[in-house]
Amino acid sequence: MAGIYIHIPFCKQACYYCDFHFSTSLKKKDELIQCLVKELQLRKNELQNDTIETIYFGGGTPSLLNRVELELLVNTVYENYPVIINPEITLEANPDDLSNDIIIELSDSPINRLSIGIQSFFERDLKLMNRAHNKNEAKACLSAATQYFNNISIDLIYGIPGLSNEEWITNIETALSFNVPHISCYALTVEPKTALETFIKKGIIDNVDDDLAQEQFHILVDKLETSGFVNYELSNFGKPHFFSKNNSSYWLGKSYLGIGPSAHSFDGDQRSWNVSNNTKYIKSIQKNKLPSEIEILTATDKFNEYVMTGLRTIWGVSLKKVENDFGTNYKKYLLQQSEIYIKEQLLYIDDDKLLTTKKGKFLSDGIASNLFKINLV
Ligand code: SF4
Repeated sequence: MAGIYIHIPFCKQACYYCDFHFSTSLKKKDELIQCLVKELQLRKNELQNDTIETIYFGGGTPSLLNRVELELLVNTVYENYPVIINPEITLEANPDDLSNDIIIELSDSPINRLSIGIQSFFERDLKLMNRAHNKNEAKACLSAATQYFNNISIDLIYGIPGLSNEEWITNIETALSFNVPHISCYALTVEPKTALETFIKKGIIDNVDDDLAQEQFHILVDKLETSGFVNYELSNFGKPHFFSKNNSSYWLGKSYLGIGPSAHSFDGDQRSWNVSNNTKYIKSIQKNKLPSEIEILTATDKFNEYVMTGLRTIWGVSLKKVENDFGTNYKKYLLQQSEIYIKEQLLYIDDDKLLTTKKGKFLSDGIASNLFKINLV
């Protein structure tokens, strides 16, 4: 089984914290959509032995596409790839694009899952991050969306400068009041060269407080677990049967094809990525040339990646798999390096699995990087 990710590289305005690839000029939108269709056709033999189980429109802001454009892309997938019956087809959407009429139209399209970028229900936070929507739009779109879709995910951000723990609890409770089955929550991070970084450097916005973010993460886990959600990946919480199939396939090491500027692909042995520039992407695809670079993964790369993704999830790192796929030396190394974290109760071993404890989960990326293998032993 495999997934297809389609990157829609346009946004109405730039959120201050964002370092994804997008353009705020929509001039090339039609041309770019034609190129996405063409890239899907050009790469139809890449996932030879796999059947597609998920299609994911990410961005950028995919909800800037209308139903006809989305259907054109989904139909192109069906025409060129084997697809399972009833695949998960997700549209990332922003609240200001989801009017009642658009939601009704989308509910009658192949899209069967919405991932809505709410981020916060507080006006102050939305302005601080330069989101295009306001709190009323956030609530109105959720009221409408939950009437027409049962598979909805909400994105929220914690650790925003000025967001108190009480306000964070209000955000979580407001999200829960809409009865959605999936919530993704991210700590606000200051990425290089973003407007947020500049504002913090100039003292216009306070810096993010890592300790507060960690506190808010623990509040989140407690609240959502009490409400029946499973924290199946560091940033993702789902009710049973509503874990994101698309995201889970990344963490379980399945293959995926990334279509569009900046999109990444993975086939188990190599990773490739398209150029992060709309004009260059269009020019190249129009000449039937894939604008991508390829990296062949070494055993060490694969091991490191498995440890990193495994520790973020409830599936953990299987010691048997490490031994089978990478050899006894890797398993020994992993157990040796883990010892200190097991003593500190940040990691534990359950049967065959190395997992993060509740206390260790927020720190899983840092812990994983200390378990990485640099050279073969
Ligand atoms: S809408 Fe999403 S992709 Fe676009 S700027 Fe904001 S965070 Fe980035």
